[in-house]
Amino acid sequence: MTTAGEARIRVMTVDDHPVFRDGLAALLAVHPDLELVGEAGNGAEALEAWATLRPDVTVMDLSMPVMGGAEAIEAMKDEDAKALAGGQTLIPTLKQRLASPTTLVDLNGIAEIKGICLKDGMVAIGAGTRHAEVADSADVQRLIPALAHLAAHIGDPQVRNRGTLGGSLANNDPSACYPAAVLGLGATVHTSAGRAIAADDYFQGMFETALGEGELITSVDFPVPEKAAYMKFVQPASRFALTGVFVAKFLGAVRVAVTGASESGVFRWPEAEKALSANFSAGALDGVALGADGMIGDLHGTAEYRAHLAGVMARRAVTAAG
Ligand SMILES: Cc1cc2nc3c(=O)[nH]c(=O)nc-3n(C[C@H](O)[C@H](O)[C@H](O)COP(=O)(O)OP(=O)(O)OC[C@H]3O[C@@H](n4cnc5c(N)ncnc54)[C@H](O)[C@@H]3O)c2cc1C
Repeated sequence: MTTAGEARIRVMTVDDHPVFRDGLAALLAVHPDLELVGEAGNGAEALEAWATLRPDVTVMDLSMPVMGGAEAIEAMKDEDAKALAGGQTLIPTLKQRLASPTTLVDLNGIAEIKGICLKDGMVAIGAGTRHAEVADSADVQRLIPALAHLAAHIGDPQVRNRGTLGGSLANNDPSACYPAAVLGLGATVHTSAGRAIAADDYFQGMFETALGEGELITSVDFPVPEKAAYMKFVQPASRFALTGVFVAKFLGAVRVAVTGASESGVFRWPEAEKALSANFSAGALDGVALGADGMIGDLHGTAEYRAHLAGVMARRAVTAAG
């Protein structure tokens, strides 16, 4: 909500929070009319400095102990607000000036959206749960080892220790791993608007989702399959999927989700599902192939290459699922 001649940024702080400090620096970069004078050791000092030095800046302190889900939902009603989770995607976006929100709503202190529990025979994971927590969870390892394996192979340790399930799904990067698991397992995405969105309806194209304006993901329910596996051919610099395939076998049905390959983002592969439902073996995919139409072609690989990789990854996933 910055208007001409009036610099106005609402800052939500978390003491000693590196993501906050990076975010603040990024905001200052996109608002050259603001300046941060002096070093602040923590959020409280930063607030004091801002209040003294820039009385024209509205500072709103929703630090960790007081920030709750209701306040976050309220703050997200501001059309210029952006939720901040692990910051692994959002902070680089701010740095590149591809987004310039006037309000950052820090979700990191909201206990309600964190953690993993078992619910109605499903594994429920809070949106604020870090990738490393999913990878290390004994429940996830026992019930959906493919999901723990997927989380353990996202990016690098820093990304896994900061990045969250909700951030990944809200962003819906066409090469991200979690969308393949959510679609492949037929999970349900719960939101702050009280909606339960089926995976088949949630993903709506590259970086597009069914989330409404200001709507937050709160948790995701993952059904437990008989067997499942995720295989990705990694882009070696980022560890994102050049192409990745999640295969899940349920009683009487197989779901196959492909990420990293399509210009429309993650998608189900009905021909592979049909073949594997009849015979769950890698050999069942002989003669099943994706066309190159609509596949991503870039400096890392052609559309044909990605279409071919999907078949290779699908076979590997079926073999790994056992
Ligand atoms: C070097 C690098 C390597 C990576 N490798 C991989 C990989 O191999 N596989 C993979 O899948 N991903 C990978 N990622 C992405 C990573 O998984 C991030 O976790 C993810 O992109 C964003 O999650 P975040 O919690 O950091 O969200 P943020 O960056 O904080 O937010 C991302 C977006 O989601 C929104 N948002 C965040 N939380 C919510 C919520 N609860 N509800 C609604 N909106 C929300 C934010 O407003 C923002 O628009 C990589 C990232 C980096 C930087």
